[in-house]
Amino acid sequence: MLRNLTWVAILLSTVAAHCVLAQNLAGTGCGIRDGVLVHGLRSGRDIALTFDACPTRNVPGFAAAVVDYLSRESVPATFFLSGRWAQKHAPALKQMAAIPAFELALHGFAHRHLDGTNPADIQKEIDDGRATLQKLGVAPAPLFRPPYGETPAALAQAARAASVTPVLWDVAPGDPDAHQTAEMLERSVLQHTRGGSIIVMHVNGRGVGTAAAVPKIVNALRSRGFNFVTVSVLLRACQSDSTTPRGNP
Ligand SMILES: [Zn+2]
Repeated sequence: MLRNLTWVAILLSTVAAHCVLAQNLAGTGCGIRDGVLVHGLRSGRDIALTFDACPTRNVPGFAAAVVDYLSRESVPATFFLSGRWAQKHAPALKQMAAIPAFELALHGFAHRHLDGTNPADIQKEIDDGRATLQKLGVAPAPLFRPPYGETPAALAQAARAASVTPVLWDVAPGDPDAHQTAEMLERSVLQHTRGGSIIVMHVNGRGVGTAAAVPKIVNALRSRGFNFVTVSVLLRACQSDSTTPRGNP
């Protein structure tokens, strides 16, 4: 009898967790889908500015102006760095690691597609990226942005094994597109950003409008009462939020 009641309780809590999760994606809480953080608390004003460093072949491969501006203005930001990018940009990596407002996190090693792979391959991509950063003197936060935003079912198991939380975004202005001007990027970000938003742009030099857009975006969002925090801070607020289901990040 007791065992039956326990099973009923487990079943009910599982159903409840799924209901809360569904509500959170559209409501006031955090957005967490299959263990992947999509956005922070909608009810607050904290937001996260994030930049990916993908291992593009293009020269220069590093948007120094973006980092210089954020550093000068002490704007908290989270950078997801692929191992292969880090190997080629050691001075930039060192510069970013020395800026207290910045958080450095994982973007795999070779920027592999994760769709169609197994948990072991995904874990290797995460671990190889982390080992490369550590070898270069950086202690990355346990956050992983999957290359191309691909989140196959196998990601959850791999992320648990690698002790990382996968992080996507809910605002993607598409800055690597050469047709996106700074004005278009700014307009897109302002249109879509809400409390808890995670904004993704790129710091590997592909975005032609990125460096010009970032100061405008930061100023405009601050004037609207938003507060920039790192993804780790956003995630901690999710973990202490009573509406966020247990077992998720
Ligand atoms: Zn990337």
